[in-house]
Amino acid sequence: MFAYTSIDQYQHALTQGKTSCQEAVHHYLFEIENSKHLNAFVHVFAEKAIQKATALDEKRSAGKTIGKLHGVVIAIKDVICYKDHPLTAASGILKNFTSLYSATAVEKLLQEEAIIIGVCNCDEFAMGSTNENSVYGNVLNAIDETRVSGGSSGGSAVAVQAGLCMVSLGSDTGGSVRQPADFCGIVGFKPTYGRISRYGLIAYASSFDQIGIFATNVEDAGKILETIAGPDEYDSTVSKNVVQKYVEVKQNKKLRFAYFRETLEHPSLDREIANGINELIEQIKDEGHEVTALSFEYLDYIVPAYYILTTAEASSNLSRYDGVRYGYRSAKPSANLTEFYKLNRSEGFGKEVKRRIMLGTFVLSTGYYDAYFAKAQKVRRKLVEKTELVFSEFDFILMPTSPSVAFKIGEKTGDPIAMYLADIYTVFANLTGIPAISLPLFKHSNGMPFGVQVMAKQFNELSLLQASQRLMKMSAIRRSPLEKK
Ligand code: GLN
Repeated sequence: MFAYTSIDQYQHALTQGKTSCQEAVHHYLFEIENSKHLNAFVHVFAEKAIQKATALDEKRSAGKTIGKLHGVVIAIKDVICYKDHPLTAASGILKNFTSLYSATAVEKLLQEEAIIIGVCNCDEFAMGSTNENSVYGNVLNAIDETRVSGGSSGGSAVAVQAGLCMVSLGSDTGGSVRQPADFCGIVGFKPTYGRISRYGLIAYASSFDQIGIFATNVEDAGKILETIAGPDEYDSTVSKNVVQKYVEVKQNKKLRFAYFRETLEHPSLDREIANGINELIEQIKDEGHEVTALSFEYLDYIVPAYYILTTAEASSNLSRYDGVRYGYRSAKPSANLTEFYKLNRSEGFGKEVKRRIMLGTFVLSTGYYDAYFAKAQKVRRKLVEKTELVFSEFDFILMPTSPSVAFKIGEKTGDPIAMYLADIYTVFANLTGIPAISLPLFKHSNGMPFGVQVMAKQFNELSLLQASQRLMKMSAIRRSPLEKK
């Protein structure tokens, strides 16, 4: 039976001749077929994946040097370009579009001999928290199929949760990797803004967007990060900071955590989640580490600031989808250019994307710019200052990932504000650009998993991943992500 719990274990078996890349690909193709109803994948590249696996097996048998991700089976979110493969952002406006080039992250995966098995479902243009805004329909949570996967990278999360690939890529603008990871009981990691190139990632809100990683364990996430991070001549916002060996160094030093009291006392937070995290805090202290409660006066401002700034950026980023050079074009006749744009855009985009384009256009318009956009930017600056202050004394911030476990399908679709407010704990890391990870440490009495979020100072991925490994080992409540309710 093909059952490996980490990339290392799988690659060790490969070199020992106990398995092959072909066996791995056939195993995942079988599982994908079996789990079709979860709707995690929108395109599967069966033939090409088998061909690639065969070539890799031959290369290894010939005794040639193999890549760092040799044979690792990966899925990518439908907002990441993969040359000559379909790319739609789960939107009608990009129906039948094919990537003309590959994202830098994808190029790096391929260079290290990973196998990309398919493209995963997501919310349209990565806007959403439940994957219910996709032109392909909902993704089901494999632990309880009446619940959402989380979003916007819902398909990428379920692909890992349900064992349909080893690791996957998503994008995280305001929590879209950490929150679905939390809902699905897996690891979800968003690196520092500028750690991974955004070249070839469809833009939602460019000063927030970052590619993130889903995995079943911290070590695998570190391995992928090590491969895809680093400078890129095609993205001037990527840092030239050295990419560290995230998985190799172990450390034992005392850890200094802070948490914001208001986040654990917030009325929207499920009491069991609060209790779970409070118990974890006690456990961390018992292990000899420091955990300090701080006050955080901005908690109620972060979601509004996030939605003002991201919709403003989105309204500009999405103006390129006009049906002129590519993408959906209405079949209806139009009398002039404005009408032509209107028809293409109103027929091509879904409801949530249109809501956000309108909101973003509004907050940028004359007369409202200062009241909304400029003010939200000031909030962002305050948050950055606060973060710098916290990290001058502490190494990590602990926070819930989401105020509740995965919602029931349809539970929040009629109330966009309630949906936005549920992003209360994830948007902070994107507003401040810091790295953050959701670790699947808990199980709710209703049977659903939930995690804890750990954040570190910008570019401190190494210590964040090391602390995460220690927290994963510390928790006695860990469980298999595949376990059904
Ligand atoms: N739920 C958030 C939103 O809808 C986050 C999305 C994301 O990170 N892509 O904007």
